[in-house]
Amino acid sequence: MTLTVKCFCGAVVQTASEDELVAQVSAHASSVHDMDLSRTDVLAMANNSED
Ligand SMILES: [Zn+2]
Repeated sequence: MTLTVKCFCGAVVQTASEDELVAQVSAHASSVHDMDLSRTDVLAMANNSED
């Protein structure tokens, strides 16, 4: 399973676990965009693909 989030700025974060995805996307949002994303926000942005 691969979880992918594509940020509105074009950055793509791809991980194999939800915890990792939330950590990486939260770090990106807070450092680049000064945004505070919750776990729910990150997972709502994620595309879940089975390959
Ligand atoms: Zn971004």
